[in-house]
Formats: sequence, structure tokens, C-alpha cells
Amino acid sequence: AMSTMSAVSRSAAQRVPDKICNRFEGRDTTFAEFDRHVDQVASALDASSAKVVAYLGKNCDHVFEIFVGTTRSGGKFAPLNWRLAPAEIIEILRQYPPDILFFGPEFTAAVGEIAEALPNIQILAMEGGDGPWPTFEAWRDAQPAVPFSDRSSSSDPALVLFTSGTTGVPKAVLISHGNLLQPKLDSLPVKHIYDHWDDDDIGLIAMPLAHIGGIGFWIISFVNACTSVIQREFDPAGALDAIHRERVSKIFVVPAALQIVIQHPNAADVDFSCIQTVMYGAAPMPLPLLQEAIEVIGCKFVQCYGMTETTGTIAILPPEDHSTEGSARMRSAGRPAMGCEIAVFDPAGKPVKTGEIGEVAVRAPANMLGYWKNPEATAKTLRDDGWLLSGDAGYLDEDGYLYIHDRIKDMIISGGENVYPAEVESALYAHPAIREAAVIGVPDAKWGEAVRAVVTLKPDATLDETEVLNWMRGKLAAFKCPKAIDVIDVMPRNASGKLLKRDLRAPHWEGRE
Ligand code: ATP
Ligand code: MG
Repeated sequence: AMSTMSAVSRSAAQRVPDKICNRFEGRDTTFAEFDRHVDQVASALDASSAKVVAYLGKNCDHVFEIFVGTTRSGGKFAPLNWRLAPAEIIEILRQYPPDILFFGPEFTAAVGEIAEALPNIQILAMEGGDGPWPTFEAWRDAQPAVPFSDRSSSSDPALVLFTSGTTGVPKAVLISHGNLLQPKLDSLPVKHIYDHWDDDDIGLIAMPLAHIGGIGFWIISFVNACTSVIQREFDPAGALDAIHRERVSKIFVVPAALQIVIQHPNAADVDFSCIQTVMYGAAPMPLPLLQEAIEVIGCKFVQCYGMTETTGTIAILPPEDHSTEGSARMRSAGRPAMGCEIAVFDPAGKPVKTGEIGEVAVRAPANMLGYWKNPEATAKTLRDDGWLLSGDAGYLDEDGYLYIHDRIKDMIISGGENVYPAEVESALYAHPAIREAAVIGVPDAKWGEAVRAVVTLKPDATLDETEVLNWMRGKLAAFKCPKAIDVIDVMPRNASGKLLKRDLRAPHWEGRE
């Protein structure tokens, strides 16, 4: 049975040896070659008894060989967010020390600092990384390509993924092979929870692999024995070019990336007819942007809601619920994905009535094993009865559709009323001058917290604050309307494309929290 990543790799190598597995910057690797490299990686790791393998760098094809090879030798793979500063990376590596750290060519400078601070970690460079470090390719190819027996099992951790750090310090999530594969392998040929993949589907891996939306999407493509076109990092022109030339059929993007792609000047010349499905998620999707994207790309759209702790998607909004006209249901995160149960709890942990807002919880085979080395945090998040608390506020309607209001931590309480920023932001996005909007709570002597908007503008647009504030009053209840609007040049975002509201809030709350 294909219950581990290693078994999936072996099986694909036998079924479709000559098919292209990964395509990266002009280099193709077949499924047979991929699996041979996985054997070599496993042998090399075994020779040095390495059990935890970390990677610091942008996306590349070889990193997936390291991932699957690490698990074949019985270890776990921890990709790090390359946008973190060296001091933050050192802190993470100190707390979760790997035996081996691979680094991409962009990090030659940072790695010197890391090696000095943590001399016990063996360091290897990926292709193009200079310095005194041995290269991955030489290290791998020093091993004979002989079959290495899989030492992992379904319940073993395969991955350590760090959460995006939107609400605080990133947490280390332990994800098992079963978490990655169970929902996908219930039936063969694989009928994926999001969408059916055929043999000739081509997936575009455009999001960073340290995030579940990046590595998880590659895994879906791999499990289906489909070709993955891998991009070093997200760039709109590169994504448009890959779609046009490689005839990509499936993509996953965060809303911020989708916006940049469809509003890029090159988009007008791209033939989107090859794209069958755009999967989007990881952050709230503004309705006007979604309508525009459907119009421009004209394919099936699937919304995905989930988190690192649930190995990605737990709710999907299927293509049938999308249209260019827009609808109330397009604001929904959809219905539970295959094998997932979703409930909404009150602060005491009891289910609320249908339609009432509370904390979204999920019970699913993809719920994480726990937070690595943090049993207290695990106990707070993963209940004994299997329900995992998301930290998101939302409700379920009579048809079982889930509506995410916002993070519980981002909710604004103004004059005793709960305001969910996502709703206010969605209204602001409909204004012709506004490109992006973020809504935060700021201290207010009268209301406790006041609603404040921070926006970026479309090219050449100007904003009349009074005009926008009045315009908002026609759209939302008075207590939800911003009391003020700040215009900034660039929204602070993390590597997953999520808005860092704590950075927007910080100057207002200085010395208070
Ligand atoms: P941290 O847990 O470190 O604060 P994070 O929660 O952003 O960071 P992730 O696990 O990458 O880290 O993101 C999961 C969160 O992203 C969810 O809890 C939810 O708030 C948000 N999210 C994911 N998908 C959607 C979606 N489709 N619509 C709205 N929000 C979403
Ligand atoms: Mg989170």
C-alpha cells in the first residue's frame, strides 16, 4: 500500500519510469531518476546517521529528493522559511537542531553566521552555493544507486512545518505520512479531495515549499504521478510564462499572488485555456478579486481553507459555487473536505447552534501529530477527543457551509460589538481607488477599540478619506465602519503572502499590551 512518501515514489517509478516528475529551470527529472536519487539520499543519510534534515532556501527540484530520501531513511524533513532573518533562523535551529542543513545559493552569506553559531550542524550547499561546503549533488552521487528499504511507516513524522507566524512565533508542526497521504489514497486511481487529477495534468508549484500550500501541492501532484513545474520563487511574469509555455493545468495560489498575476500587464497575452483548476486559499479572498480572476482566467475555481496543523485543506468551496456575478456563498470557505468533520465551539468548548459564531474546530485524519517539543501548546490545540482548535472565528450555515470570519486574535470588539475585519476589508476592496485593505482595532477611550483601515492604492489613484468613510456607511452597519483610514505604500506580508496585522497594530498599541 502507498502509505508512505517512499512507497509513493517507488510505485510511480515502477508505473511511469520515463514520465517527467519535476521540471525546474530547464532541467527534467523522470520518476525513475527521482526514485534513484531518493535511494542515494537515504543511503547517504544512513551513512552519517542523520535523522533530522533541514533546508534553508528557495524552491528547487532537488529539495524534493532530499525530502522523500530523508523519510525513506527513517528521518524527518524540516524546510525553513527563507524570508526569516539570520538571527530568527539561528533561533529556530537552536530550538530544533537538525543533523544536516542544506542551503540554497541565495544563502551563502547567512550560512557562515549559522555555522559559527551552531558548529555541530553538518552543512551542505545546493547547486550554485559557494564556500567551503560540500555540495548536495556530489554528496548524493557518491552513493551507489541501490534500492534502500523504506524505514518509515504511516504514523511516523515525515515533515516538520513551521506555521506562518501570522499571530506570533512560528510553531513547529509534526506531520506524519498518514496525514499527508490518507485523504488522498482512499481510492486509486487517486481522486483527490480538491479535484480530480488525470495522468496528463501538470501542476505549477509557485508557492514556497516551506509552507503547506507549496510542499502540499507538490505532494498532490506527485501522488497523482503528474509532472510538477517548480518555480524558484513566486514571480508573476514567471508564473504567466510557465502557464503559457508549459501548459500548466492546476495551480495553487494565495489571494495576494492571484491578484498580482491577473493584474500583471503580460496577463493580456497569455493563453489561459490550459488551466483547468485554480485552487486558492491560505488567507481571506476578497469577493471582487475572485470575480475578476474568474473573468480573466475562465476556469474552475476551488477555494481551500485549512492550516499547517491540519496538513492543509479541510474545507473546500467547489467550482459549482463560483460565478462571475458573485454570490453570498462565494464568501464561504466551503464544506468539509473528504474525511473531515468540522464543528464550531463556544469558549467553553461546547458546540454552538447552527449559524452562531464560535471557534472553528476540525477532526480529520490529517490533523497533525502535535507541535514538536511543545506538549503544552499541543494540549491547548488538540483535544483528547480528536478535535483540533483552529484559532479562527466562524460559523456553519444550514447547508453545512463554513464561513470564516477572522482569526479570534484579530477580532475587534468596539463598543461591545464584535467586528470581523475580513468583512470590512471585503467592502473596502470594492472601492475603485483601493488595491489592498487591512482592518485593525486600535485603542479608543470611548469604544474600547476603534475600527481603523490601512490601505494601499491602485496605480495613480488618490484617496479622499471622508468620501470613502461615507461610502462605507452605505455598505456596513455603523459600528463596523472604520473611523479612520491610513494609506501606506506596501502591506507588510510574511512569506505565505499573509498580512502581518500585528505589524500594523504595533504602533497604535505601543506600551499598552
Ligand atoms: P500562526 O499560526 O503562526 O499565527 P498562520 O495561522 O497564518 O500562522 P498557517 O498555518 O500557514 O499559519 O495558516 C493557517 C491560517 O490561515 C488559518 O488558521 C486561517 O486563519 C488562514 N486561512 C487559511 N485558509 C484560509 C481561507 N481559505 N480563507 C480565510 N483564511 C484562511
Ligand atoms: Mg495558525
